Amino acid sequence: YHAKNQGGSYQYYRPGMNRKSHDSWLLERELRKGLEREEFMVYYQPQMDIATGKIIGAEALIRWIHPEKGFVSPGEFIPLAEEIGLIVPLGNWVLDEACRQNKLWQEAGLPPIKIGVNLSFRQFIQQDLARTVADTLERTRLDSSYLDLEITESMTMEVERAMEVLAQLRSLGVSISMDDFGTGYSSLTHLTKFPIDKLKIDQSFVRNIIDGANDAAIAATIVTMAKNLKLKAIAEGVETDDQLQFLQRCGCDEIQGYWLSPPVPAEKFERLLASNSCV
Ligand code: C2E
Ligand code: MG
Ligand code: MG
Ligand code: MG
Repeated sequence: YHAKNQGGSYQYYRPGMNRKSHDSWLLERELRKGLEREEFMVYYQPQMDIATGKIIGAEALIRWIHPEKGFVSPGEFIPLAEEIGLIVPLGNWVLDEACRQNKLWQEAGLPPIKIGVNLSFRQFIQQDLARTVADTLERTRLDSSYLDLEITESMTMEVERAMEVLAQLRSLGVSISMDDFGTGYSSLTHLTKFPIDKLKIDQSFVRNIIDGANDAAIAATIVTMAKNLKLKAIAEGVETDDQLQFLQRCGCDEIQGYWLSPPVPAEKFERLLASNSCV
């Protein structure tokens, strides 16, 4: 029995494995196969500038279409992919695909937008992350100003190292967003020093923005804080008119959520972008 972190190696089932490890062993095998068989797709969810009502960006979200199980939620396989290291090749594939697609849209004459790509912790601590991003931009010929990388607060716990990585990425000309903001434990002192561009208000606050006084206060406070730090604020998980209006009154810059559109395949996103009049 052995387990290695790189693609192409195998982990064998051991009699006596408990139920949970057997399940994740099966999932791991399927994941590796899935990568070989190209069962993954990237979906795109539009982001809208509240002031103009125009699509100004899209978040790239991975989808696994399993031959028997159908759609498997990233919430199910991303944590495992992270654990076994498979997230690095998988994440690099998403990055490449998203940049390539964004360049294609630009070449088709569609309004230029930023593409947002989620980074995992494993990717973030790879020594050659900046090199990988630079190579991807070069290979896909996407201008760095059209790429946004999403990190989470937990990735910045090792402050010095995080500063260094973010500075390297920023020097390439890409922007950085802090995803799921408000759910982690990042120090506000450090937040002011990190070279980031945008706070993404976590959807858990947006969900109860209308009938939860606390969550409304948190969302409004994050927007104010972003303004004071000269960062942009985007709200995730916006589903209703009321939520949008509340965020607009707060001075939130952008929204993303089912109100506008769920994540959709590239062809469908292209149609949204071509009409670009979602309001
Ligand atoms: P996230 O980065 O915070 O992405 C936002 C999630 O919220 C997406 O779930 C999206 O489909 C969902 N969402 C968007 N609008 C709404 C809405 O109005 N209401 C509700 N209820 N949900 C909404 P998804 O696609 O299932 O992804 C879940 C998480 O998996 C992502 O959270 C991200 O952390 C991770 N993930 C997805 N793709 C990748 C990837 O390529 N690399 C890495 N490292 N993580 C990824
Ligand atoms: Mg994200
Ligand atoms: Mg998020
Ligand atoms: Mg999330």
